[in-house]
This record gives sequence, structure tokens and C-alpha cells, in this order.
Amino acid sequence: MGELQIRAVRALQILDSRGFPTLQVQLEDEAGSVFEASAPAGASTGAHEAVELRDGGAAWFGRGAGQAISAVKGEMSALLLSRPWASLAELDAALCELDGTENKSRLGANSIVAVSMAAARAFAASSGKPLHAWLADLAGTEQRLPVPHFNVLNGGAHAANELAFQEFMIAPIGAGSYPEALEWGADVYHALAGVLRGRGLATGLGDEGGYAPEISSPEEALDLILAAIDASGHVPGEAGIMIALDPAANSFFADGAYRFNERVLTPEQMTTYYGTLLDDYPIRSLEDPLAEDDAQSWPGLVSRLGGRAQIVGDDLFVTQAARVRSGIADGSATAVLIKPNQVGTVTETLETMAVAAAGGFTAMVSHRSGETLDSFVADLTVGSGCGQLKAGAPARGERLAKYNRLLEIADANPSLPFGLATGAGHR
Ligand code: PGA
Ligand code: ZN
Repeated sequence: MGELQIRAVRALQILDSRGFPTLQVQLEDEAGSVFEASAPAGASTGAHEAVELRDGGAAWFGRGAGQAISAVKGEMSALLLSRPWASLAELDAALCELDGTENKSRLGANSIVAVSMAAARAFAASSGKPLHAWLADLAGTEQRLPVPHFNVLNGGAHAANELAFQEFMIAPIGAGSYPEALEWGADVYHALAGVLRGRGLATGLGDEGGYAPEISSPEEALDLILAAIDASGHVPGEAGIMIALDPAANSFFADGAYRFNERVLTPEQMTTYYGTLLDDYPIRSLEDPLAEDDAQSWPGLVSRLGGRAQIVGDDLFVTQAARVRSGIADGSATAVLIKPNQVGTVTETLETMAVAAAGGFTAMVSHRSGETLDSFVADLTVGSGCGQLKAGAPARGERLAKYNRLLEIADANPSLPFGLATGAGHR
């Protein structure tokens, strides 16, 4: 694998899928090839995420990316142009050192992640391999096409309705291939529109492309999804379509209690409530079922429900290896959600996935609610072999960029396995 000599660095403010600024970075190598990446942005962020640099002030509601762009064009560019780079690990480490903070707050995780992803594309190109295959070589993992987790019903911070739980996802785990899983997901998504219309409910969309009807209870949402699975001609359960939830419980946890739909539940009662949902619905995965500030309650939930569903830490772990390590030691979860911009570099993202796999955790790669057309997470999912991706509904360009990239990868690599990872994934 050759060295990377960068000869130009460009950064531009673009808008994300919510109409807020983010940045696009381009790296040009010595041969004149250009490698581009754009930073996504979350709305329900964890307190320990690497920090986005935002301009503040009145313009763009304080969310301008001018400072992040200056960081790329100034200090980061000077570093990147200063010498050839032997590896992505070396380049990412130099970016972290230049930033000099624990949480990337000086240069910004948004600027750093865009540079890191563009650099990964440049290294992959110089190896002659597609990004997913290059990432697999780098990480020592077996490639795999994932089960897509489509967020078809939006609530919480992603919708204007009264639904406290943020994401209701469908996972076509009974499908025989990725293209078939995408088709099943789209079938249910369209059937759900019909079910909603039939009940006089609105079919407007939330931030991730799922419907955001004026309902308020998790059971109503789950019943609508079951009706849609039925109307689509598919079946609920292992042979067909399972459900995954991301309640994003931070957003309805206050003063030691979970508060939604007139309910005020202790962590213990909340855990019991999830148990009844698992009794009544075909749910395979629960993400952030409890709040990050209620970390001490997670091991109890895992010991009661961890054998029945995957328990995923998103806000709890924020893609950071040290936090995942302690989660493994404490038995706080059984899986980690992976968002490169929560930690800031591709190298650190792969490290976190390696720590998770070594500790027996599964992993699910994720988009953010504010997205661009960048499809890096699709290649990361395949390359890491983790077998699970959530990228919103099977609708809207920024979500389809990921799902359609997986179609391209599947088409070009017919022998790649599909489905949930069976082992740790590391070869
Ligand atoms: P975010 O939410 O991208 O708005 O932070 C996604 C999630 O909580 O998984
Ligand atoms: Zn989440």
C-alpha cells in the first residue's frame, strides 16, 4: 500500500438533510484524484460525544460551519500537506494530536471526521480496492452485507408528534439477500402509509424519513407496524420481519424517572415495561432503553432482558472504546451503536468495533438524523462485517444514498454473505 501525499485540501459549507450547515471536505492527491466526504449531525446527542464546532451567533441559528471550515483550511491543511502519510492510523493520530483535546472540541469532530473519511477513501483508492474491502483488510474482518434496520415511524427529537420513543424500526431478518431485505422494507413502508391513511392519520415524515403520525403510545406505533407487515403480505418474526426500538430514553428521563404517556416509571418499572413489550411484539433490539445518566440501571436490564433482545448502547457509549470497555466489564449492554462522528476518526471507530467484538458485543452501524449524500457508513458496515445498519426509512435521498450503496456493493460482490453476524466477525 502506497503512501498518501496530499496536494490540496478544500472545505465547503453545505446543508444537511434538515437544512442546517455542515461541511464537505475534498482531499486531492498527487495524481490529481479527489476524495470527498461530508459530516453528518445528530439531534439526540449523547453528553460524551466528540464535540462539533459550530459558529454560534445569530446566523444559521448558531449552527454555521465557518469555524470548522477554517480549521480544515488552516491548521489541518498545513498538517496534511506537510508530509506523506504512511497509513490512515498515522494521519488520524496526527489530527487528534493537533486538536489536543479529549473531545475534539478545538478543531471540531465534524471537521476531523470529514477529513478522516476522505483520507480513508484516498488510501482505499491507492490500494485499488473498493472502500468496504479496504476497510475489511485494515480491520482484519470478514465482509458481510447487513440486515437493514428501517426507521419507519419517527417520534422523540425527530418528529413533532407526542410519541416519546424516537425510533420504530423494521428489520427484515428473514430475507435471503440484501436486495430482498430492501424490497421487504419498502413493501412494509408503503403498506404503513396505507394503514395510516385508513385510520385517518397523517403520512407526513419525520427527520429520518419515517412517518410521524399524531399518536403518542409505543403500543399504538407497534400495532400500526404489525398491521403494515400484515398488509404487505410479509410475516412478523424470525422468518420475516422483526422490530427494533430506539426509545432514546435520555429524552424522557428526569429526576430519576421515565416519563411518557402519563406514566412515571422507576428504572425497575421501565425494565418490566420493556419485558411486556418483548412478550407482546416481535422485538429483536432495544437501543438506549434507559438514560445515559441512569447507567447503574443498565446491568439489571441486561440481566433480565439481554437473553431476549439485543441491548444497544448509543448515547451510553458514543462509539468510544473506553466507554465500551467499561460497558463490557459492567454488563451494561450487549451491543454498541457505531457512529463515526461520535468519536471523530475512522481509526478510532474501527478500534471501538474491535473492542466490542473482542468483548462479545455485537455492533450496529448508524447514520445520523441530519445526513448528507455521503454513504461512508454503508461501506463501514460491510467492511466491519457487523451485519446491522440503521440508516432511516427506505425513502429520501440522504437515507437511500446508504441503502443504494449497499445495492451496488451487493451487485458487484455476489458471493458476500448476508445477515446478522454469527461470530465475533474478526478473522
Ligand atoms: P441522532 O439520533 O442522529 O439525532 O443523534 C440517532 C439515534 O439516537 O440513534
Ligand atoms: Zn440512538
